[in-house]
Amino acid sequence: MKILVPVKRVVDYNVKVRVKSDGTGVDIANVKMSMNPFDEIAVEEAVRLKEKGAATEIIAVSCGDAKCQETLRTAMAIGADRGILVETTEELQPLAVAKLLKALVDKEQPALIILGKQAIDDDANQTGQMLAALADLPQATFASKVEVSGDKVNVTREVDGGLETISLSLPAVITTDLRLNEPRYVTLPNIMKAKKKQLDTFKPEDLGVDVKPRLKTLKVSEPPKRGAGIKVPDVATLVDKLKNEAKVI
Ligand code: AMP
Repeated sequence: MKILVPVKRVVDYNVKVRVKSDGTGVDIANVKMSMNPFDEIAVEEAVRLKEKGAATEIIAVSCGDAKCQETLRTAMAIGADRGILVETTEELQPLAVAKLLKALVDKEQPALIILGKQAIDDDANQTGQMLAALADLPQATFASKVEVSGDKVNVTREVDGGLETISLSLPAVITTDLRLNEPRYVTLPNIMKAKKKQLDTFKPEDLGVDVKPRLKTLKVSEPPKRGAGIKVPDVATLVDKLKNEAKVI
């Protein structure tokens, strides 16, 4: 069983993003970039399935500029067997990525596609769902447990007020939630091994996909600044202010 794991290169989660002064987007010049954290969880889950004998090959795929090769090498250091870069300098929106992934699903015929539930840069939470629709595959979003059994996969999902377990027939699309697993640290020997693994590159045209943006970003702005706080002398004043100024109690 092959597993395809799409991994996105995003601004590292520790970086405080700065909005460009012209409001057209966020500044990513000289900013640390990493693999989207939910995608690390997806790669880890695929590797665990392989270690359990449920999968035979893991293919990591990243769409974007040439630097996404670094993200693919990280996925291969965690345990992916090979990588595919779909190289383009165009801005990629979720629909375009879903179409590229659909073309790769047709080509590679994986039994499982495990994506992150969302990319922490655009917070779109769309790609997995769009891919499932385009490829006409069953989907389980926000997975917190994945168990493959024969030609089925049981997925536990975190829903309001509890957990829901659903059974899908393979092939299927799964998107990962935070509690699915804790990704392993990549070790130096595995980083070295990853450098030798196969990495193929395609252009969107090779896959017959038009990636032109369909949505236009009108404006990006910072959240409003918080006003300075004040110190109150005693509890009575605090209660008075909460009651009469903030009107929250
Ligand atoms: P989004 O719909 O943008 O929030 O992204 C959801 C998931 O889709 C991510 O966690 C990745 O698994 C996948 N994905 C989105 N964009 C890309 C990309 N450019 N390359 C590879 N995978 C991507």
